[in-house]
This record gives sequence, structure tokens and C-alpha cells, in this order.
Amino acid sequence: KQVITIKNVRKEYQNGGVNTEVIKGVSLDINKGEFVSIMGPSGSGKSTLLYLMGGLENCTEGTIEINGKPIEKMNDTDESKMRRKDIGFVFQFFNLIPHLTVEENIILPIIIDGGKPKKYKDQLDKLLNLVGLTDKRHSKPSQLSGGQQQRVAIARALINDPEIILADEPIGNLDSKTGETIMNLFRRINLEEGKTIIQVTHSEESAAYGNRIVNVLDGLLV
Ligand code: ADP
Ligand code: ADP
Repeated sequence: KQVITIKNVRKEYQNGGVNTEVIKGVSLDINKGEFVSIMGPSGSGKSTLLYLMGGLENCTEGTIEINGKPIEKMNDTDESKMRRKDIGFVFQFFNLIPHLTVEENIILPIIIDGGKPKKYKDQLDKLLNLVGLTDKRHSKPSQLSGGQQQRVAIARALINDPEIILADEPIGNLDSKTGETIMNLFRRINLEEGKTIIQVTHSEESAAYGNRIVNVLDGLLV
């Protein structure tokens, strides 16, 4: 089953009236349960491709389908619903809210959505256990190591039980030992929870945790 279908996608950014073509015609299919690593030099368009898959950026041309539904045909409500329910995002710099506790950060997507946090108590406990932070649930991000902060961000990405996890250099800001721990966690989430994972990475070692490498060079797949 295809969860992401990318067809002839181009992306241009406009900067001071100048158009720069960053993605120059990319087609790619990703199946349910895959763990894909996107690699390539800095500036080649990896993050842009990931953001396009998540609907954080719009394609200039071409289509991206999530579970067979083209993102550009979704209305705003459907698109934000897709972004919250079908996809979880993990970023290089964690993007946690400093004044909220670990469990408040994890539950935040539910609160933003107007949901009842109480209903998610079991899911929260399960995720705290999965990422090994049950004893840190009342801590603030500043009291945690980088690896622990990224594990909070991973739990937050999973709170809505999305089918797809998109991760932009998830270990790019961590030392290699901590990076291994995080990659092992992603592997478990892929194998045990059945999540489809797409990560952007610079590291061969980190890419090797996945089952497919996609190489991007100057806006094209190679
Ligand atoms: P990578 O992730 O491979 O480093 P990016 O996708 O971040 O590459 O960026 C590809 C190119 O697009 C770079 O030249 C970058 O400066 C440019 N770019 C990325 N985002 C924007 C943006 N929002 N506006 C203008 N240019 C951008
Ligand atoms: P990465 O380290 O993932 O390649 P970058 O440092 O290239 O990311 O970009 C970080 C953020 O800045 C992204 O949201 C990207 O879209 C944006 N960005 C990158 N280059 C530009 C640019 N030239 N103009 C505006 N925004 C940019």
C-alpha cells in the first residue's frame, strides 16, 4: 500500500523577485512500513522535499498524495487534519515549548486540536514508556539532555498515532552515541509500531537504520 505518492513535483522559492527552482521534477512512491532515508549535499533540496510531503510547503507543480488523496485538492480543514492525524513531525532542534513539562509538550497537539487530554492518558503513558521518560514526565525541557529532548519530540509526533513520521535531521544536533539511541528508537517505532518513517540525514550510519536510501542532488533524485 502506497502512503505517499509524489508525481512530477517542482518547487520554486521566490526571493526578492527572483525565482529559484529547488525541486526540479521529482517522482517517488513510499509504501506503508518503509523506513526511507533522504541523503544529499547541503542545499540540494532534502528538507524542502520533506516539507512538501508533509504539506508544510506547497508544490509549484505536480502532485503529492497522502494515502491516495492529493494534498492540493484538500481544503484547509482537511489539510490541517491530515497534518495532525496522518503525519508526525520531528525536527533537528526539537522545537519543544520551554515552559511546558515533558507530558504537556507531548499532549500539546491534542490541546491545540481542542481535544480532551484526559482521554489520551493511556496513550501518553504508553508513549512515555516507549521513549523511556516516565520518570521525567514533570520535568521541563531545560532539565533534559539533547537526546531526552528529542525523545519528547518523538513522543509528541506519535500522540495522534499517525501512520507517517517525517524527521528532518533528527540526530543532526546530537553526539553520535545519543544519535544511535535515537535511531534505535526510530527503528523500534518502524518495526514494532509499524510506522512509515522518512528521515533527512547527512549520516551514512543513520541512513543504514532504514531500508531504503533516496539520494537528492541539486533538486533531482539520483
Ligand atoms: P537541504 O535540506 O538539502 O539542505 P533545503 O531544502 O533546505 O536543502 O534547501 C534547498 C535550497 O532552497 C537552498 O538553496 C535553500 O537556501 C533554499 N530554500 C529553502 N527554503 C527556502 C525558503 N523558504 N525560501 C527561499 N529559499 C529557500
Ligand atoms: P536544513 O539544515 O534542514 O537543511 P536549513 O538550515 O537549510 O535546513 O533551513 C532551515 C529553515 O530555513 C527551513 O525552514 C528552510 O525552509 C528555511 N530556509 C532555508 N534557506 C532559506 C532561504 N534562503 N530563505 C528563506 N528560508 C530559508
